[in-house]
Amino acid sequence: MNISELGEFPLIKRLTEDIKIYHPKETIMGVGDDAAILAPLGTTPITTPTTTYQVVTTDLLVENVHFDLTYVPLRHLGYKAVAVNLSDVFAMNATPKQITVSIAVSSRFTVEALDELYAGIKLCCDKYKVDLAGGDTTSSTSGLIISVTALGTTEVPVKRDGAKENDILCVSGDLGSAYAGLQLLEKEKRHFLANPDMQPDFKDFSYVLERQLKPEPRADIIKLLRERGVRPTSMIDISDGLSSEILHIATASNAGAVIYENKIPIDTETYRALEQFNIMPLTAALNGGEDYELLFTVSPSDYDKIAHTREIRPIGHITEAATGCNLVPENGALIPLSAQGWQSFG
Ligand code: ADP
Ligand code: MG
Repeated sequence: MNISELGEFPLIKRLTEDIKIYHPKETIMGVGDDAAILAPLGTTPITTPTTTYQVVTTDLLVENVHFDLTYVPLRHLGYKAVAVNLSDVFAMNATPKQITVSIAVSSRFTVEALDELYAGIKLCCDKYKVDLAGGDTTSSTSGLIISVTALGTTEVPVKRDGAKENDILCVSGDLGSAYAGLQLLEKEKRHFLANPDMQPDFKDFSYVLERQLKPEPRADIIKLLRERGVRPTSMIDISDGLSSEILHIATASNAGAVIYENKIPIDTETYRALEQFNIMPLTAALNGGEDYELLFTVSPSDYDKIAHTREIRPIGHITEAATGCNLVPENGALIPLSAQGWQSFG
């Protein structure tokens, strides 16, 4: 069978469904979430015993599949490779502590180019106070491949499977902007290939470009939730588009969901950037991906604690499984959500 016939998520399911867990007390949750949850690291046996769990996640970035060096500076690439892994750690309600970085490099790269890549990697480690604890280096016959693994700790892991009927669905930041940035960069690449003397015209689009080239994982949201005493019932980071992630939470939680078009946060610059491509901003928000925002559910009784927070928006709520996942458009009938986001084998 062709891999593209099956698709990425069914492929992962097929490859991993009969995995045996030999250490159930230590491998608390394996495949199936933003990160795996490992054994408690220690117990503080005072009056309020706390258990600290470790989480671990890994991502692989391949040149010309995940990034295009004609318009991605290596320093940004290094930063982003770390940032997207930290995003998965935060999505478990955990604090990232260490990463490992493995690279495969073809002979076309200079030492100075790899210095640039590592300058970005170190900058992101600095910003989020993460220790680079190891990795591997080898050669490649086809460009650059970067694999980052991130480890973190949490006393309260939050998985995808805890959403309950009537919980409020919330999203941080705004959506669709990284996809808008990608469209601009791809357009300038086409112009450049047609006429190498062309200078890119990026003025007035710094926000969407930054969202594509230098995403920031939402450490601030995890901190805010903690400070306000809100424990999300489920959480995921938005890497493949809002639709796909809502379906992940709903499937894992055996629930349905409804979201409202007019509640989905989209920046005005995203509207402006997408106008020239005839792409609806709503489509970019639902299916664009690479937002690295957090999607989470909170119980209605907790919602007041985060209402009126500028960086968090309620976009809908959890329903019973039978209703499925739907979008209420500004005009017209319910639209069932489908996962059309980024597909590795599409
Ligand atoms: P994310 O988008 O959050 O990085 P993925 O969609 O890549 O998550 O992966 C979903 C789940 O499947 C994760 O738990 C991940 O660890 C697991 N997974 C992905 N690919 C493989 C693989 N080849 N072998 C084992 N587990 C995998
Ligand atoms: Mg994720």
